[in-house]
Amino acid sequence: MQSYLRNKIAAVFFAALLMAGCASHGPYLKLDPSLNTDIRVYENVQYVPLIKLCQTYGIEWKWDSVIRTAVITKNGKIVLRPGSDRILVNGEERKLISPVVLANGAVFVPVTFVRNDLGLIVEIRPVAEKGFEKIPPVCVPGRYSIKSIVIDAGHGGKDPGAIGRRLHIKEKNLTLSIAKKLKRILEDNGIRVIMTRDSDEFVSLPERVRIANSSGADLFISIHINASRSRSMNGFECYYLSEATNDNARALEAFENATLKTDEGTVVEHSGNLDKTLWDMKLTENRRESAQLASDICNAVDNSLVARNRGVKTARFYVIKLTRIPSVLIEIGYLSNKFEELKLRDDGYINRVVDVIAKGILAYKNKYERTEGFTL
Ligand SMILES: [Zn+2]
Repeated sequence: MQSYLRNKIAAVFFAALLMAGCASHGPYLKLDPSLNTDIRVYENVQYVPLIKLCQTYGIEWKWDSVIRTAVITKNGKIVLRPGSDRILVNGEERKLISPVVLANGAVFVPVTFVRNDLGLIVEIRPVAEKGFEKIPPVCVPGRYSIKSIVIDAGHGGKDPGAIGRRLHIKEKNLTLSIAKKLKRILEDNGIRVIMTRDSDEFVSLPERVRIANSSGADLFISIHINASRSRSMNGFECYYLSEATNDNARALEAFENATLKTDEGTVVEHSGNLDKTLWDMKLTENRRESAQLASDICNAVDNSLVARNRGVKTARFYVIKLTRIPSVLIEIGYLSNKFEELKLRDDGYINRVVDVIAKGILAYKNKYERTEGFTL
């Protein structure tokens, strides 16, 4: 009797271990037998053509020839790049047993990719259907939703930012008041807002980036007011990260990045624990989303006629360069223009501008959630 009990306990324990093991692997998708003839062996690893997998499992496929990256989508998104054994599954890094291979103009993935990773974006059919094992459906709610946003009020404390030519309005005060108003509207729309500062304090640029990257937020929006030597310059601009910088943007970058010089040797790791290829992939994806967000915000400005829209621009501001989420930097207007400085002093005007920015962000959010983040 005792030995029967012991066996039973051992059996239950073993079953629990097995179940725990299965759970950690997630959905289990079996290679469809029809694909067996497509298997090729590279360096002792079995590979299948990615395009065939997509056809078999009804997955949408796109290839970006510029950055040589494949993106496949179904109930989620996987980004792969030939030469790398790292892939992004719904934004999360995963490792393949061997790198993705580009051969004879086709992308090949290890067969184990089907079992370990592909099941994460393909719905699991009943056992009756060939090639699929019966497992409980995996549900990841709200994977493609914008739930929280970091709002970064530019400058603060010892760093006043731009100063108005006529009324000596300080950029740091305006950005904070705009950030607070924007926070209220976004929160009214069910979005969680994280502020990099909520008082007149100095927050270094690396610290702002750290807050954004550790926040788990979906977007980063940095608020600034511009200034220019040219007194006639006026209007609204929205920046996202450029690949290469031009002279105009460089001057503004130098100004917005100036506080960096006062920070003592703080260095933010570019890629952290991501490898370089993966970081490039993530950066490319983020740039695309950032460009869309910037364009939605500028469209909202265009439609409102509240301010002159100078349009979407690109630059390499520190805060949008090193944040690991889609990021834009908004220059609300020019404090160096005396008419715009007068407008910026008016609370009614600021409220209208903030309304418009919020409209643009919400338009982006709706589109992103409707298309499930697939904007390639
Ligand atoms: Zn600024």
